Amino acid sequence: MLGVVFTGNRQLEVREFPRPEPGYGEVRLRIMATGICGSDLHVYRADQVPGQIAGHEPSGVVDAVGPGCERLQVGDRVSAHHHQGCGTCHQCARGEVVACARDQVVGVATGGSFAEYCVVKERNCVPLPDSVSFTDGAFMACVGGTAWGAYKRLGIWPWESVGVFGLGPVGLSCVLVGKALGLRVAGMDVLPERLEVGRRCGADLVVDGACEEAVAALREFGRGPAGHWADGLDYVIETSGATAAREKVIPSLRREGKAAIVGVGQYDKVINPGEIHGRACTLLGSVVFHLDWSWDLARFLATSGLSFEPAVTHRFRLDQAEEALRLADEGRCGKVLFLPHGPGEVGHPCLS
Ligand SMILES: [Zn+2]
Ligand SMILES: [Zn+2]
Repeated sequence: MLGVVFTGNRQLEVREFPRPEPGYGEVRLRIMATGICGSDLHVYRADQVPGQIAGHEPSGVVDAVGPGCERLQVGDRVSAHHHQGCGTCHQCARGEVVACARDQVVGVATGGSFAEYCVVKERNCVPLPDSVSFTDGAFMACVGGTAWGAYKRLGIWPWESVGVFGLGPVGLSCVLVGKALGLRVAGMDVLPERLEVGRRCGADLVVDGACEEAVAALREFGRGPAGHWADGLDYVIETSGATAAREKVIPSLRREGKAAIVGVGQYDKVINPGEIHGRACTLLGSVVFHLDWSWDLARFLATSGLSFEPAVTHRFRLDQAEEALRLADEGRCGKVLFLPHGPGEVGHPCLS
């Protein structure tokens, strides 16, 4: 089978590999869709690389079942949470697999999903309802789940306003989930291509983050059409990790507003405790999502009509990996996907 390996400093190779065999408690997936994520780009750009097949958004069909599996069968459509945990510790029992001391990330510790086939733990696989596409399954595995996790932690009400800072794959997912939850959503980025995709994903307002009036525009959006709903945004979800965006988080919030810091970024000191006090706001860190929240998200996708498809701007075969990674690295796009087996199952209503 084909698999994509990063070799360091923005280089990669598409190589032929033997099809991996599932071990105890594992299943092999025929990968139907898998996305390029911001965290893949950190690895792609680095000089030290894991040497595994890359990719951590596995979505596909169970193709082989290892010994000890009790739930899944060949032919099941699933998405797999990319943090595999150990399955036995306190953190894993709470579903917080990302905090497991013996966590094994797909595509870092084990062979990844930029391949025709990928082996994952059965316990990490969430069944895809018939109406949920493999593309949505790929989003569930990482960026869509991360957006969902931010909303779960913020505890929103549907009439409120949210500003999504950074319109990369996680930010676009936040726009789509926010609209499906009934919120008023403003998106902010500095790249015009991303603002355009944000608009297509349903953002009520998109703001150029480089514009001096950005914070004023976000606060005005929070005040609503008649200008008296709040004195700023009810929530901010910061996905960019950029210092210039982080500096705008507190000034954009209303009094007692809440923000989730999601984007991986630098350790610059941009938060002033005096400002937190002055605005009586709440800041929380949100790192991916609990395993059980993937099951919630599958239900929400099936019942709300939400789909992450509008965030996708490009789809590639595995042998086009160089072009795909170059595009994602430049960032002038929405979500970039690999479809290792073409556009979909014959006879299945989902086209991706
Ligand atoms: Zn990711
Ligand atoms: Zn564990």
